[in-house]
Amino acid sequence: MGLNRFVLAASFVQVIDVAESGMEKTNFLGITKCKLEQLLASLGEKPYRAEQILKWIHHRYHDDFSQMTDISKALRDKLTVIGTIEDPKVVSETISIDGTRKWMMQAGSGSCFETVFIPEENRGTLCVSSQVGCALNCSFCATGQQGFDSDLSTAEIIGQVRIVKKLIEVQEPVHERGITNIVLMGMGEPLLNFDSVLDSVDLMMHDLAYGISKRRVTISTAGVVPAIYRMAGKTDVSLALSLHAPNDEIRNMLVPINRKYPIAQLLEACRHYLGTLGEKRTLTIEYTLIKGVNDQPHHGQELATLLRGFPCKINLIPLNAFPGSKLKRPNNISVRAFQHRLVNAGLSVTVRTTRGEDIQAACGQLAGQLLKRAESSGALPPSGQYPVDDVLRRAL
Ligand code: SF4
Repeated sequence: MGLNRFVLAASFVQVIDVAESGMEKTNFLGITKCKLEQLLASLGEKPYRAEQILKWIHHRYHDDFSQMTDISKALRDKLTVIGTIEDPKVVSETISIDGTRKWMMQAGSGSCFETVFIPEENRGTLCVSSQVGCALNCSFCATGQQGFDSDLSTAEIIGQVRIVKKLIEVQEPVHERGITNIVLMGMGEPLLNFDSVLDSVDLMMHDLAYGISKRRVTISTAGVVPAIYRMAGKTDVSLALSLHAPNDEIRNMLVPINRKYPIAQLLEACRHYLGTLGEKRTLTIEYTLIKGVNDQPHHGQELATLLRGFPCKINLIPLNAFPGSKLKRPNNISVRAFQHRLVNAGLSVTVRTTRGEDIQAACGQLAGQLLKRAESSGALPPSGQYPVDDVLRRAL
């Protein structure tokens, strides 16, 4: 009893300190259950309070601690002093004729990033950003051409899910299925923002937040090998690899991080991660088809040989070319021929239908225009000036 009173007294001192010091408040939107329990313990509260608070935030979409009526007034007051519940700001929304919706949102840093929702007959996929811009400079990617601006916080990543879910499932419940799948395949390389991304996928999959199955939440990486090893034992989220090439020569050109971590090392890291999941799971291989670069019959043959026996399914993505790029999309006949070659070699292959072309839904196109303006005004370093080694040193 004496100890409890001491902890409580100490907590009040902490709360008063925060209020008086003008310290930045914690955004509770980005706190996992485990971290919330620790925070509550430091305030002398019982762990089960975390469950109540998470439900208010992620199930009932409340932004105000004072409305959390099943917790004590004293705790609500404390939380109001130290915390906030704040979504990223929505700057604009565009809707494609095919139903794809794209939002531009603003991070606390003032920079903009994108979120895209793709409704289909049997699923609704939300494509989420993890960074503003990207340092990896893949040559076929609009985001990569803009350079890196900043990491998104956990609150800014999970906030994209909360905003869209609230909008399409509660305020405009027109989509029968709502969000069924989440892919971290928007702006940025997720594994270079490791801690925030892992906390975000924890919330995406947790029943007290968004409760989406681990098979339907996917981190997509360009191949940050040490971070793939780091994932093992920390999460069981699904993994996708942006391969895009059947050999190192082509991949070095399309995905420059390949010069640091070539394909053999990368596939080994992915195999290791899948092996830690303790059940039959497959790697999704993303392969953007680019006319004359990686879409020829011998490329298909080489890819089939590379992936023979690997537990994977291949997703072919005809290039969604962005303005100013010299790379071209192959025609539909070439795409189907490439697919058949892989299927005949015994691989599981789908072709991603291009969606939202009229609203520039390819990653990075809309926010890219804003970043370009910031770059030419001198607010950002020019694109491509982020050596891979520096980027990795900073992130890992
Ligand atoms: S493809 Fe992904 S990793 Fe490569 S530059 Fe674009 S956002 Fe970055």
